[in-house]
Amino acid sequence: MSASTTSSNNLISYPIRSAPTSDDIQSVLAVYDYSSDSTNSAAKRFVRSEQNCDYTLFIAQTQTQGRGRKGNVWSSELGGLYMSIILPCVCDISNASLYSTAAGVCVQKALCSFLPTCRIKWPNDMLVSNKKLCGLMCELVCDPSGRYHVIIGIGVNVNSSFYDSPLRDTATSIRDELGHEMTITDVCKAIVHELMLLPLLIADNDSLIQAYTNASCIVGKDVKLLAAGNVKAHGKAVGFDNLGRVLIQTEIDIKSFDYGEISLRLEG
Ligand code: ATP
Repeated sequence: MSASTTSSNNLISYPIRSAPTSDDIQSVLAVYDYSSDSTNSAAKRFVRSEQNCDYTLFIAQTQTQGRGRKGNVWSSELGGLYMSIILPCVCDISNASLYSTAAGVCVQKALCSFLPTCRIKWPNDMLVSNKKLCGLMCELVCDPSGRYHVIIGIGVNVNSSFYDSPLRDTATSIRDELGHEMTITDVCKAIVHELMLLPLLIADNDSLIQAYTNASCIVGKDVKLLAAGNVKAHGKAVGFDNLGRVLIQTEIDIKSFDYGEISLRLEG
């Protein structure tokens, strides 16, 4: 894939391809590690040192410093899938939050092939039976030539078990839900397959937001939004705007919230 010379907001963007081909899928280069500090950190180091980094996939069986959002720890025991993929940033940098939206749609679809009731809790958690099965986190990073890339980091509880864990009331795994183990590679392949469609999703904003809305478990529900532990808003989640911000019907009006520092909790 060649880069175009078009630039906007200092972003040298790649042309949007008309359709992902099987070549794209085969061209994903996987870098396996038994243990990584964090696959997102490994991917970040790679982007910073290498211009030709797109479609490199970092996979680990455990992480010593698995990260969630806002400095949260992602528990990364053996049995989980920890992966990060580097994609070219094909949209304007000011819209890069849409990568998180689109990655959510791709990952939810992939996980639904194992657990059909999997839904997205805005912005980036995949829930089954109201418990977290998977988390994802996107980071925007520049390569040495100044070109932006998106790193999509995904942690899936595949064969992990939380029966004896402090997370037992809030976390689940494919194995805990199905009652039998799943091949971690199969889960990884299903996710990568869906992620190859991400550039197409990003290119059609209406379809993307519709797909995200359909995959969401919060629309129509009463929620509260927290920032630094304080309640910022209460209301009913009514949908998402064209940047993937959540729309909350409060007593006064409909407000939109960026996921930046905000955490959403279902009421009741
Ligand atoms: P937000 O709703 O703002 O995203 P969050 O609490 O879901 O907040 P994340 O950064 O998305 O935060 O995820 C990290 C949190 O998820 C941890 O603080 C912990 O509560 C929980 N967690 C950590 N590891 C796992 C895991 N393997 N499976 C399920 N949940 C986990």
